[in-house]
Amino acid sequence: MSSFTVITLGCPKNIVDSRHLIYYLKAQSFVYVEDFKKANFILINTCCFIDDAKEESIDEILTVAKFKEDKKLIVFGCLAKRYSEELKKQIPEIDAVFGLGEKEKVATYMKSFTKEKTFINSDNYNAEPASYRYLKIAEGCSRRCSFCIIPDIRGPFKSINPESILKEAEGFVKEGVKELILVAQDITQYGKDLKGYNLKNLIKDLSSLQGDFWIRLLYMYPTEIDEALIEVISEENKVVKYLDIPLQHSEDRILRLMGRRGTKKDYLKLIRRLRQAIPGVTLRTTFIVGFPTETEEEFQNLLDFIEEVHFDRLGAFIYSPQEGTKAYSLKNQIPQAIKKRRYHELMSKQALISLEKNRTLVGKDYDALIDYIDTNLAIARLYCHAPEVDGVVMLEDIKEAKVGDRVKVLITEAYEYDLKGVII
Ligand code: SF4
Repeated sequence: MSSFTVITLGCPKNIVDSRHLIYYLKAQSFVYVEDFKKANFILINTCCFIDDAKEESIDEILTVAKFKEDKKLIVFGCLAKRYSEELKKQIPEIDAVFGLGEKEKVATYMKSFTKEKTFINSDNYNAEPASYRYLKIAEGCSRRCSFCIIPDIRGPFKSINPESILKEAEGFVKEGVKELILVAQDITQYGKDLKGYNLKNLIKDLSSLQGDFWIRLLYMYPTEIDEALIEVISEENKVVKYLDIPLQHSEDRILRLMGRRGTKKDYLKLIRRLRQAIPGVTLRTTFIVGFPTETEEEFQNLLDFIEEVHFDRLGAFIYSPQEGTKAYSLKNQIPQAIKKRRYHELMSKQALISLEKNRTLVGKDYDALIDYIDTNLAIARLYCHAPEVDGVVMLEDIKEAKVGDRVKVLITEAYEYDLKGVII
């Protein structure tokens, strides 16, 4: 018994955790297989960021439990860490539960059932296409946003040492990966626990690696973006001019209740500065709607803020109370129907903004990175698209192009989120 598969749910940080666990188990002589039917061990990497993510994780566990037969079902990740006892009690088909970072324990558990060798070859782990890789630069978070349980689950912020990040990045570039995507709960904290080395140094060092690749920065805390960081981002050619800065809300009272730093005035100033210093910059943000006590007026002000700023990309979450957080016990929780209505109102507004912005790209040409190919159709991204969360460019009649190719494309059509184009 020694083949295994991993099902990954949740965010890019989970993708990286799964990748590291797979590499580790392979190094321990286990065989990774994509097809769970061929696996002796099925591992599910869970998420519990919001209620929808919890439900998705539980549904996945229940689905696998139905088909598990004599396979061992192992659950790990955020949900497993948080609700280990409840999961074991309520889903008896689960054979073992592990917290984050317990790869040695997972391997020991698996070894205790491994009697014979499996004579099949390992498959490649394909959660990311050959064109890009997430590069996790830190673990955990030491902030205390009142709605968020992540610091309890993932522990305090800890930078990964620069040598191992650079080594991992170098390996990816050598494999032909064309985009490195820096992730952490908050990448702007990088280096706060290291001596004399910070995110700016890391960006410069990554940029100096030999090769033709993009660097993308995700999850930046707004009040930590200073002039020196803006300068590095605008000067380093490999860094795509795309910044993901979750703001969560625009109204000062709500931001304070959320335990977030900065005010609406600060955010507007930052956005003006970024647009002035980094011409053509794509700005992505996320907001939470229906936070406890959010009044209709405050929600309308958030819509006005979105209208004023015209974010290039925007994601929204419906607030869901997480046990153990400060916001959980706040009075005046907003009824679900109102939260949903606000969410749809906000997303409809953004859809119009996005369409308007996409239309300005028609007739222009850009470099595009090909992520997937299906017969004669390619799915590619421009610098202004992060994988999975933003739109894509659909390319027809792609001839010789391959996954991982950087091609020049002419944008021919615009939709709310996606674009159509041709290779020129
Ligand atoms: S910065 Fe705030 S929202 Fe992000 S992980 Fe840390 S506590 Fe959670």
